[in-house]
Amino acid sequence: MTGNGAVVLLSGGLDSAVCLALNPDAVTLSIDYGQPHAQSELDAAARVAQHYGVEHVRADASLPTLHAPGDASMLVPGRNLVLLSLAAALAEARNLRRVVFGANADDRDGYPDCRREFIDAARAVMPVEAPLLDMSKEQIGALARRLAVPVDMTWSCYYPAAGEPCGTCDACKSRERALP
Ligand SMILES: [Zn+2]
Repeated sequence: MTGNGAVVLLSGGLDSAVCLALNPDAVTLSIDYGQPHAQSELDAAARVAQHYGVEHVRADASLPTLHAPGDASMLVPGRNLVLLSLAAALAEARNLRRVVFGANADDRDGYPDCRREFIDAARAVMPVEAPLLDMSKEQIGALARRLAVPVDMTWSCYYPAAGEPCGTCDACKSRERALP
């Protein structure tokens, strides 16, 4: 593939699914970095990629900085730098020009690697785009509906129990704001 193609970082959650809907011919990349909900995420990402009929690449990156199970914050120090670097490597290998990920306005406070300063700095070395950067969760939910994103296929919860979302973690709460 050449031209303006993209790698979309696809976590299997709502934000990244919207990023794919905005770039429906992308190559998607999902990464198992040791997150407690890896299997739920990766299964959701595979479903969403299949829905759009796009290639789904998986990579592994065992981060040494995982939060403890049950932490209210989902912050994993350095995570997005690692994920974006892997996506940029895939983009370069495939001659794709862009790397797209789903950082958004609701992530700004708790997650330094979702802020504009971080993304601008990353842009010095890789072609990062964050199309949802100024959007709230409510706006992303509305956009997802408008783009007919298969929201039921997506997965947000960090601490699933018996295959069900916990309903109380930050990811569950922000999903509830997006999809009331
Ligand atoms: Zn949850």
